[in-house]
Order: sequence, then C-alpha cells, then structure tokens
Amino acid sequence: KISKRLKLVASFLSTGAKFADIGSDHAYLPCYVCQKDPTATAVAGEVNVGPFQRAIETVKAYGLEQQIDVRLGNGLEVFEAEEVNQLVIAGMGGSLIHDILESGKTKLTSVEQIIAQPNVDARAVRKWMIHHGFTITDEDIIEENRHCYEIINAKRLDTPDNKQLDEKDLLFGPILLRSKPPAFYKKWNEEARKLEYVLQQLKQAKQVDQKKYEQFTKEWRWMKEVLS
Ligand code: SAM
Repeated sequence: KISKRLKLVASFLSTGAKFADIGSDHAYLPCYVCQKDPTATAVAGEVNVGPFQRAIETVKAYGLEQQIDVRLGNGLEVFEAEEVNQLVIAGMGGSLIHDILESGKTKLTSVEQIIAQPNVDARAVRKWMIHHGFTITDEDIIEENRHCYEIINAKRLDTPDNKQLDEKDLLFGPILLRSKPPAFYKKWNEEARKLEYVLQQLKQAKQVDQKKYEQFTKEWRWMKEVLS
C-alpha cells in the first residue's frame, strides 16, 4: 500500500531509528519502517481525529502496537524532548512544515536528523534547517502520479557544514542543483511555465508590485539557467 514517495522518505532512516512521523495520516510510513526493522520505534503524530483513528487501525492491523505509539496532537507536541532521534514530516506544504518545526523547536534537543518532504515551497524548509543547526546532507526528487516530490534530509553534524547557501540553493536545493535527476527537470520546467503565466498576468495588471515582479523575473531566469 505504501507509495514510492513514502518508501523513498523511509530510505533515509537508519536501522534502529527512534523516530516521530508528524502528520502520519494512515501511519503507512511508520508501519512500513517498523515491519521491516523490528528494532525501530516510532511515535505517529496526528492533529486530526479522523487520520489519528486511521493510524491506530493500521498499526493494529499490522500488530505493531509494541513499536508504534499513535498520538493525537499538534505538530511536535506529541513527543517529549529526548524521546526521539529522528523526525519525519512528509506530505504537507513547506510553510506548514516550517511552522511546525519553528513552534516545536524546543523539542528538538535529541533530534539528530530531519527528513522533510514538502509538497510545495521546499525553500521555506531549507531556510529553517540551515538557520537552526541542521545541514542538508541529501536530497532527492521523485515523480509519482504526475507530481514531483522533493525530499530533504538534514543532519545535526559534529562539524556543521556552515557553507552559506545562496538564494538559488534554497530555491532549487543545494544537492538537487548539482545532481539534477530527471524529475528535477520536469518540476522546474513546469514551475517556469507557471511563472511565465504569472508574469504575464502581472504585466497586464493595473497596479504592479514592482518588487514582486522583479523577484519573479529573477527566479524565472534562474529556472531557465538551471534547465539549460
Ligand atoms: N505524512 C503522510 C504522507 O506523507 O503521506 C500524510 C500526509 S497528509 C496529506 C498530511 C497530514 O498531516 C494530514 O493527515 C493532516 O491531518 C496532518 N497535519 C496537518 N497539520 C498538522 C499538524 N500541525 N500536526 C500534526 N499533523 C498535522
């Protein structure tokens, strides 16, 4: 039942992971991980009652109650500081992931790794990570059901890589910008096309936010550059 996307997200966890999956919905990801790895344990967090109940049912169906604790609550409030070492947040918008990390940051004292899969606006997540002591060590992008999903793996390194990421790294991803897998081209071709449309609309508007127009134009040029 698990999607290619969630399998790829799971592949960044190492054996024996003690992790939280925030916004777990059906809890497919923790069930997949814990079934394969009996030494892994997980907290599956959900803010909504429907998905929370679905998660409980899946965990029960797989008989994984000993390894997975399903908890109802907002963002990172479902676990105590020191309780988990890895964090997964997948399938939400980047700004929501950013807000969840920001409002729960006191819970991250023992978290060594964050795996984020923002559906849109990955830039907001990258920005948060590099400003809070996490180094982006890996990235991937995968196409499923005609959508391209970016996955960002960040670690708290002993010797943090303090290389400043520039605006382009934040938008495209420092690793993806260099590896450029096929789905990367697909995603940014589409984004460039969308942005062209937006720019055209802005041009026709009576009042143009000049700053916004210039920023979008700059980003559109970057897209053309990385696609060439
Ligand atoms: N993580 C799964 C995946 O990637 O397939 C499910 C993604 S689903 C689209 C997003 C889930 O996040 C929903 O079940 C929603 O209830 C939950 N969610 C949204 N905001 C949340 C928050 N602040 N804290 C916990 N869960 C949240």
